[in-house]
Amino acid sequence: MLDSLIRGGTIVDGSGEAGFEGDVGIRAGRIVAVGEVSEPARHVIDAAGLLVTPGWVDVHTHYDGQATWDPFLTPSSWHGVTTVVMGNCGVGFAPAQPDRHEWLISLMEGVEDIPGTALAEGIRWEWESFPEYLDALERRRHAIDLAAQVPHGALRAFVMGERGADHTEVPSERETVAMGRLAREAIAAGAVGFTSSRTRNHRTRDGAPTPSLTAGPDEMLGIAAEIGRGGRGVFEIVCDFADLEGEFALLRRMVEVSGRPMSISVAQSDQAPDQWTRLLGLIGEAADAGLPMKGQVPPRAIGLLLGLQATLNPFSGHPGYREVAELPLPERVARLREPARRARILAEEPPPGLRFLLGSFERLFVLGDPPDYEPSAEQSLAAEARRRGMAPEALVYDRLLEDEGRALLYRPFLNYTDFDLDVSRRMLLDPHTVPGLGDAGAHCGMICDGSFPTFLLCHYGKERRRGEGLGLEWLVKRQTADTAALVGFRDRGRIAPGLRADLNLIDWPALGLRPPEIVFDLPAGGRRLIQQARGYRMTLVAGEVICEDGKLTGALPGRLVRAGAA
Ligand SMILES: [Zn+2]
Repeated sequence: MLDSLIRGGTIVDGSGEAGFEGDVGIRAGRIVAVGEVSEPARHVIDAAGLLVTPGWVDVHTHYDGQATWDPFLTPSSWHGVTTVVMGNCGVGFAPAQPDRHEWLISLMEGVEDIPGTALAEGIRWEWESFPEYLDALERRRHAIDLAAQVPHGALRAFVMGERGADHTEVPSERETVAMGRLAREAIAAGAVGFTSSRTRNHRTRDGAPTPSLTAGPDEMLGIAAEIGRGGRGVFEIVCDFADLEGEFALLRRMVEVSGRPMSISVAQSDQAPDQWTRLLGLIGEAADAGLPMKGQVPPRAIGLLLGLQATLNPFSGHPGYREVAELPLPERVARLREPARRARILAEEPPPGLRFLLGSFERLFVLGDPPDYEPSAEQSLAAEARRRGMAPEALVYDRLLEDEGRALLYRPFLNYTDFDLDVSRRMLLDPHTVPGLGDAGAHCGMICDGSFPTFLLCHYGKERRRGEGLGLEWLVKRQTADTAALVGFRDRGRIAPGLRADLNLIDWPALGLRPPEIVFDLPAGGRRLIQQARGYRMTLVAGEVICEDGKLTGALPGRLVRAGAA
């Protein structure tokens, strides 16, 4: 007797092979039969007309804090994601001595734009060491599975104290060995790997650079060698690559001395629009030499969402706006609609720091409903203003006030130099990449890319109008088997007997994104951007339905995944 039988769906199993009609039998949380299944079941789900796929594995999230208070891990659980990997980009909350809590929160608030008040109220700090953090996660129940990585930032402060927060401080040999040993022990206890950030975009709330920014070869290779001694775990690195060859050589050495796999963030910036091809070239050379290196690539532009309720809007820095910035939204909208204030704000200059990012109305768009993530240059607000014969600032100002001040504008800033997603598609097609970088759970007031998996499938699988798409079976493999393999999970990512019954039942013609919106549901009333999907008929984790037609069922079959056990 089966627990469940999913009958008559089109199975796209994650192998990349063509989909086929068939049934999936489930018992004790695992897939036990695929194809024509005649064994009776307690519970039969009719999947006629639906796609049946493995659940998505999202390797790049930042639920490190949220996972300790929120069992549902939205938005990912609304998007067919059944396993999330957190602790990316060198930030997280373990290991942590009690006197470092405030600093770790300020680092997470600064780097990932997660409200510090929410973290302070939400996290209960039932741990000091990383294994204790894993135990605390394991005691909780979640809708989906989650796995953790050891963040360099927290580890540095844990071992080096006050000095560890300063990226220019160099650890002693003893401290480097201690960091490596703690990382190795964390991985032995079930952490998926070790992560580090080398980007100037990552700063604490007070503007200090992220602690691992300039960590030198002795430190990086020392930690890598210790991790290598354990023979387990992966590396995840984000890096500016101001000196591409030099920085890459260091990262490649980490893989050489440890023998452990590494993924590196890859995205196109407007300042060096061709560098990503050189970086993927270097990754490809390393891979050809037998080193397990991959690029993590975003399936669309990484973009800021700007609005009156968001962290930033194009007028955030204008004195005339700042006077009313703290007012509740309805009052603020009323004040901003006063003609005198509008005229004054439009006459003011934006502060220099924000001008670069916000001032280019040529790259600012109305996202719309359904959201359009591949707008043409002619759709920009600057182009629209020209057509209307009005000043672009004035048009942007008025757009922000639409929908009673809830309108969100989209400012793509990575992977969008040429105003289309051909670059993203080329990155996805590179044999040495996996889709990632959604940062789900982070950037609460500016970015909402936890929806990447849904976008990847919909956009390239059926919706793309401004260029070529990609095959459905291949896209499913990228978001399941390939991402699972990146972090060493062998028990999921495919539909095959013996594997976890983590599954999506998808109404393919209906699958799509809803527009992002701002809600205030974090602890302490903290604000975050969320985005929902349509078309996921059901998502199953370990054979239990956790989400049905966009509504969480309340089932909490998700658990901490300990690397090695998966
Ligand atoms: Zn990240």
